[in-house]
Amino acid sequence: MRICRFDGNRFGLVQGDEVRDVTAAFASLPQHAYPFPRTDLMIENLATLRPAIEAAARDVKPVALASLTLQSPIANPGKIVAAPVNYKKHLDEARGDAEIHHQNAVGEIQRVGLFLKATSSVVGCGEGVAMRHADRRNDHEIELAVVIGKAADRVGYDEALDYVAGYCIGLDMTIRGPEERSLRKSLDTFTVLGPYFVTADEIQDPAGLDLELTVDGEKRQVANTRDLILDVKTLISWASSFYTLHPGDVILTGTPEGVGPVLPGNTIRATISRIGTMDVKVRELPPR
Ligand code: MN
Repeated sequence: MRICRFDGNRFGLVQGDEVRDVTAAFASLPQHAYPFPRTDLMIENLATLRPAIEAAARDVKPVALASLTLQSPIANPGKIVAAPVNYKKHLDEARGDAEIHHQNAVGEIQRVGLFLKATSSVVGCGEGVAMRHADRRNDHEIELAVVIGKAADRVGYDEALDYVAGYCIGLDMTIRGPEERSLRKSLDTFTVLGPYFVTADEIQDPAGLDLELTVDGEKRQVANTRDLILDVKTLISWASSFYTLHPGDVILTGTPEGVGPVLPGNTIRATISRIGTMDVKVRELPPR
């Protein structure tokens, strides 16, 4: 199943390039009063939501996916876990380019560990990326985004995929510079998730997905998730050895070689096989 969020918190069932509005099905989600849970309710209740979504879709006329303004399909991720430099060729690239490493030692992921991005940085592809420091180098990073489906606390490698609800395309937008990653990668709009959420049953094995990113038609990043240094199972197992992963938590699995700058006016096109394609416009945030 493919689920999108669009046009101010409407929800859609995506079938090919068409969408059926199934917002009515979401009324069945549990109602919460303050303090709110830190999980994503859609993901946490996916098993019961799925038949309701299918039922709601039956009586609805489809509209074109391309006609909608897509928001992040995961509305309330509790945390965004991200893998630094998790493809060998990107490690070589980062170590060889002073504009990427900025005198920071580029360590291997096994030594450096994982980092967190602010959840306030999350947008959908229809909302675009807004540059606040356009005088600095702002890079694209395409990544497979893994959405956790149930609480994962110290899970083993072999069982790790049982904890996955599904997948999206992720953009881990980044200002290059000497500061901590959490600062340079947490600007508003710097985590793009989309175009929609694909449930795990549609992607049996997340190893072997093709990734491609272009900027205004120019090919920048072409890779395959089989070349991840730490694969999806290892990332889940390792992350959950430090903290519990909750439904709706997102793991950005790292970007391959070919990172490069974007400028206001550019359009990023990101594609991952078995998921889809999303176009993301880059703009400069106007002064206050
Ligand atoms: Mn990244």
